[in-house]
Amino acid sequence: MAGLNDMQDLACRHVDGPLLILAGAGSGKTRVITHRVAYLMDEIGVNPYNILAITFTNKAAAEMRDRVNNIVGEGAERVWVSTFHSLCVRILRRFSDRLGYATNFNIYDSDDQKSAVKNILKELKIDPKKYPEKMFLAEISNAKERYISPDQYAKMNATDFVKTQTATVYSEYMKRLRKFNAFDFDDLIYKVVELFEHNPDVLELYQDRFRYIMVDEYQDTNHIQFLMVKQLASKYRNLCVVGDDDQSIYKFRGANITNILNFEKEYPDAKVVKLEQNYRSCGNILAAANAVIKHNEGRKDKALWTDQGDGEKLVFNQSEDEYMEADRVVNEIIRLTANGAQYKDIALLYRTNAQSRILGEKLVMRGIPHRVYGGQNFYERKEIKDIMAYLKVVNNSTDDTYLRRIINVPKRGIGDATVDKVAAFAAANDMTLMEAMQIIEQVPGLQRSVAKISSFVELIDGFRGIIEEQEPLSTLFDRILEDTGYEDELIAEHTDESMARLENIDELRNRVVQFETDYEEATLADFLEDIALVSETDKMSDDDNMVKLMTIHGSKGLEFPYVFLCGMEERIFPSAMAINSDDEDALEEERRLCYVGITRAMKKLYLSCARNRMLHGSRNCNDISRFIKEIPPLLFQDSGDITRHVKRMEERQFADTGYTGNRYGSSGQSGYGKGSYHGKSSQTGSGYSSSNPYSSYSKAKKEPISITPSTKPSFGKEFTVNRELVLDYGEGDRVRHMKFGNGTVTQLVKGGRDYEVTVDFDRGGTRKMFASFAKLKRL
Ligand code: ATP
Ligand code: MG
Repeated sequence: MAGLNDMQDLACRHVDGPLLILAGAGSGKTRVITHRVAYLMDEIGVNPYNILAITFTNKAAAEMRDRVNNIVGEGAERVWVSTFHSLCVRILRRFSDRLGYATNFNIYDSDDQKSAVKNILKELKIDPKKYPEKMFLAEISNAKERYISPDQYAKMNATDFVKTQTATVYSEYMKRLRKFNAFDFDDLIYKVVELFEHNPDVLELYQDRFRYIMVDEYQDTNHIQFLMVKQLASKYRNLCVVGDDDQSIYKFRGANITNILNFEKEYPDAKVVKLEQNYRSCGNILAAANAVIKHNEGRKDKALWTDQGDGEKLVFNQSEDEYMEADRVVNEIIRLTANGAQYKDIALLYRTNAQSRILGEKLVMRGIPHRVYGGQNFYERKEIKDIMAYLKVVNNSTDDTYLRRIINVPKRGIGDATVDKVAAFAAANDMTLMEAMQIIEQVPGLQRSVAKISSFVELIDGFRGIIEEQEPLSTLFDRILEDTGYEDELIAEHTDESMARLENIDELRNRVVQFETDYEEATLADFLEDIALVSETDKMSDDDNMVKLMTIHGSKGLEFPYVFLCGMEERIFPSAMAINSDDEDALEEERRLCYVGITRAMKKLYLSCARNRMLHGSRNCNDISRFIKEIPPLLFQDSGDITRHVKRMEERQFADTGYTGNRYGSSGQSGYGKGSYHGKSSQTGSGYSSSNPYSSYSKAKKEPISITPSTKPSFGKEFTVNRELVLDYGEGDRVRHMKFGNGTVTQLVKGGRDYEVTVDFDRGGTRKMFASFAKLKRL
């Protein structure tokens, strides 16, 4: 138990009965959980198989797994360290048949959900313009988080018109998911709670299995998660939860802070431990965090302290606009790393994903390795969704959503009207779309489409054959790309965009190959599940010496020596929505988020903002964030400067009339006149618009002015473009291709930043391909 203070030690040694650890950021809550796992195993002799540790994100689970592996030697891998969702997937894969679902169910993402609701609205003749899908989905998700079934929902809302409509949609939606053997993300937990409720034998099995349960970040659990934990823990009551009410930042997802505040009511015999020493951040950073969070009312007062000394002061910078802000950040990164900091020690955090674009671009320009987590999700890209849909159709024929997505992609002349006819036939005969397609000759009124659909069914059957013969997943993957013509179509298109798409597909293939290497007996269903559960943040690994970019939400539980909080402006952070909200807690939640952001920093914290910023297509001036003003000026490196800034902003509030034009050119630097911000008097006007751009906003909307720097945006590793392609073969050379085998290069044509290579393959056939995708090896 070395490396724990007295209170932490006390918490670790508490073995039986409920335990609540309520403590501020960086006080070692997560550390206590991992040490407690070790203590239970090594000192008490608990079987690792009986321990369950639940965390909030896959990234946090991986980190906890690492930490546990480091302190306990043998058996650590048998401890279940898991997120709520992956825990539930595992339970459902075993027992979903008790709920009337097959165990090879699909997991719907938000797009799948949307198209399901869209179809339901069509059937129910509800106008989506008046009642958008999103509205229904939000309400359904809300109900599920509170464990309200469609029937209960209908009963509770019998008088309100919109809500009765929602009740019908909710009920139809659940019927549909069941028919297609699918769960959405909320279902994963909902259905486990339902499973446990109606199957005491299953519940008891898991109760006996998980005799010791620990939940990290308990402040962000919602009601349904609370219920599930309660069910699991109700037999042995060895439940340890840790959390910080000041870090509750997921209310919008239904997180219920009262779960933590009422823990003592729910478990009156609970032992409560408070930790107050912070081990993460130096004194100045901690003082700033304390000062900000103090402005929230309705919180349990805590005073975090550190014995690490004050450390470095905070740095605040206000730049002219977001491009200059990013330049400053990047310059400072270069300075830090020149003085010995590692890239991986640095994190850039922001309120919204969109802010990552410019920061990413600037980092690309200066050649700084970095990774953007979240946001532009790789798996949301069209080409990736298409290929995934193929894989899902091959895996599970019952789902219309995926089938509809790919039936005419690439184009095979099967139109919507045809699909609707088949779907109507399927509905009338209580079949799935795929089943109807398998007996397509019996579907009336299709004429020429019959042949097209038959050959599509044959195509899919061919893919299923590959699985049945237990060929590797990568073989299936390649065959899909090839036999459907998907790859050829993109190659033929020969645009930058299609190249990027091919590159993404290639990245997905890498993932398939990696999965095969990691899991010898990997099945297609396993792979699909793995993908459904990953979020970009999960791929973070400490071996990657890269600057990390993520939202503050995504940074929860993590720590970095150097943290930049960017975009510290009113209407960005706190968000405009929180500022305008009637709900007072909305602002408090933003402040808690700020507290989370500040407390990620260990050594040094940079806060920055821009005087004006493009937002939703127009350029606006924003005041410095109120959170900056809540930090005592003395904590800043240049306290005079911050006081001046704040004062100047206050004086200027409302007096502002305009921002005069600057050029947002490729350098991002050249056009910035000194002090060109100050109102109408200044006349720099080079490029953006010759007059005051406020007056030209409407014009600017009609004729978009390019403000994009010349480099393409980077979204992390897999999207990096502009790499120099060096070939190690030439015309006449013998080469090997991964799929097509050996051949001879007959032609090499340079085009753009790639080469078009023509190869005569020994097995027959001449193929033209891009060198960057062909990955030919010289023999
Ligand atoms: P958060 O609220 O952000 O999740 P936390 O309370 O979970 O924070 P940890 O991540 O467990 O805090 O700990 C913060 C840092 O302090 C970690 O680097 C951890 O290793 C270190 N730490 C915690 N307790 C001690 C201790 N007793 N001695 C030395 N270092 C410690
Ligand atoms: Mg933690």
